[in-house]
Amino acid sequence: MTAASNSADAYGLDRWAHGLLQVLDNGDLGLRDPEHPKRPAVSLPSIVSDLDQRGVSAPVLIRVGSLLRSRIAAINEAFAAAIDETGYAGEYRSVFPIKVNQQADVVDRIVEHGSPWNLGLEVGSKPELLIALSRELPDGALIICNGVKDEEYVRLAIATQRIGVSCVIVLESAGELDVVLRVAERLGERPLLGVRIKLTERSSGPWASSSGDRSAFGVGASDLVAIVERLRDADMLDCLQLQHSHIGSQIPNVNEIRAAASEAGRFFVALRRLGAPLSYLDLGGGLGVDYTGEHRSVDHSTNYTLSEYCVNVLETVKYVLDDGGEAHPTLITESGRAIVASSSILVFDVLDATYYDQAEWIEHQPDDHELLTNLICIHEYINTDRLQECVSDAEYYRSELRANFRRGLLSLDQLARAEEGFLTVIRRLKKLARQADDVDEGVEELLGQHVDIYHGNLSVFQSLPDSWAIDQIHPIVPLQRLDEEPTRQAIVSDTTCDSDGRIDRFVTKDGVSDWLPVHDLVPGERYHLGVFLVGAYQETLGDLHNLFGDTNVVTVELLDNGEFELLAETEGDTNAQVLSYVEYDPKACLDAFKKRVDAAVARGHVSAGQRRELISTYRYSMSSYTYFEH
Ligand SMILES: *Cc1c(COP(=O)(O)O)cnc(C)c1O
Repeated sequence: MTAASNSADAYGLDRWAHGLLQVLDNGDLGLRDPEHPKRPAVSLPSIVSDLDQRGVSAPVLIRVGSLLRSRIAAINEAFAAAIDETGYAGEYRSVFPIKVNQQADVVDRIVEHGSPWNLGLEVGSKPELLIALSRELPDGALIICNGVKDEEYVRLAIATQRIGVSCVIVLESAGELDVVLRVAERLGERPLLGVRIKLTERSSGPWASSSGDRSAFGVGASDLVAIVERLRDADMLDCLQLQHSHIGSQIPNVNEIRAAASEAGRFFVALRRLGAPLSYLDLGGGLGVDYTGEHRSVDHSTNYTLSEYCVNVLETVKYVLDDGGEAHPTLITESGRAIVASSSILVFDVLDATYYDQAEWIEHQPDDHELLTNLICIHEYINTDRLQECVSDAEYYRSELRANFRRGLLSLDQLARAEEGFLTVIRRLKKLARQADDVDEGVEELLGQHVDIYHGNLSVFQSLPDSWAIDQIHPIVPLQRLDEEPTRQAIVSDTTCDSDGRIDRFVTKDGVSDWLPVHDLVPGERYHLGVFLVGAYQETLGDLHNLFGDTNVVTVELLDNGEFELLAETEGDTNAQVLSYVEYDPKACLDAFKKRVDAAVARGHVSAGQRRELISTYRYSMSSYTYFEH
């Protein structure tokens, strides 16, 4: 096996990247264009260094045009194929939930690329509705209005029918109907209505609590009946066109999707029988992304492919509707994650590393403490069969030596030798463990605690909030040197001073690992890591922990000659911008700083020239990037 394919293997590229990432002959990670599979892959390090030369430095979020377009096409084409395969008699319509990525550039491109398929938008709040109403959607596209609605929200959704916009107001509760009836009457319009069903079936996965009885959204059976009766009384039952349900995001198991589709189908049949002329069945989101490439029903993975999802959903809905003797409606799904996750890549550089195993050997000295001598002697019996014993011994001697130091029985010099001696043992153990066929889980875990720390130029809280909040796993791969074996094992810590600001779960060839295989850092050489599948949910949840702001963002288009075109650039936040987010006035800060400098000048501590320099340094810093700059 060549080194390049070896590396691709180490990071499980073949399992989660769907052929879009490839190790190039020079060891660079290359990005293939899904719309032009025959084109050569574009080197990601060359994109990064080209951006750097243009003044767009890492950390940078790279959005790739063809990655987004191809996912929109893939979902719509997969449903079209599944309609053929299953004989489903209705159509399919895709709706993008804005909350998954509200960035204007992303929403605009989704609307543009989705227009051949009449792709619509799903909104869950007034600001999202304002976005949707301002986009140029094709005539056949729907705006699905979810979320808690006040009168103003409802008025916007109904009044805009006059300009040809199709907003479906999805009733989330029986109470919302009062508002809708009142506003509709006042405006003299017949609104397009939907109702959100609370499914009884609970889903699993990280979002399980948003499904089932305890779900905050949707109506149960008794409210549903009441809503239908009130609409009938108001002579508006014909307005009820859509049935909505959403089982939660990132559903790992296809059978849960089937169960939800089946239950939704039963409700649909029942509503039709009550006289609601429903023409749309909206099954919400849930189509998962296989972040780890495990292809299993576990968190961060899925046990189904896109086309299996489509076939299963259509087959199930068809079966239930045929069984109930009802015609097939237009089927809608609101896949957000599956559309945008793969289209963005976060690139950051490694600033520094803390190595846990620098020396391989430590010489015994005659005046070493007895416990230290024992610790060093482990080297004499280390072998693959005694890994567990050696790990335990090393931990025991080190902890005894530390205890001695705390009691004043060991010198600082001896403690330093003890720490060093411990690491030499760990280093050899790790080497042996790598060669061993079968390593005990406990040993693996203990050795895993002694991996290196690579200090990344990023804020997890800002750029990968789900990795912090819900332990979301995103694949991370070095962008360069993939023709060399990654001989180190590391976790990644970020630039915030928070112990949570770290990434310690990674996708590797064996699935999920507590450490990432990485290369030794070479002094003077940049080492970039790419975080993949970050297009969904990461961009607006981010917070200003330690006041690290938005990163630089670029949108690129891959070209046919291995180059790329920069379509759009959004500069990351400056220090002044993040200060103003937390209500500081940068100008007032500068003035206050000047006053302090002037006071030092008055005391004779600072010269006129030093004053100028201090102030210009402060002023420059206000306008610069919040991240480490080279
Ligand atoms: C969040 C959400 C979605 C998106 O779900 P994905 O799993 O990302 O596709 C769709 N519909 C509704 C109502 C949502 O709240």
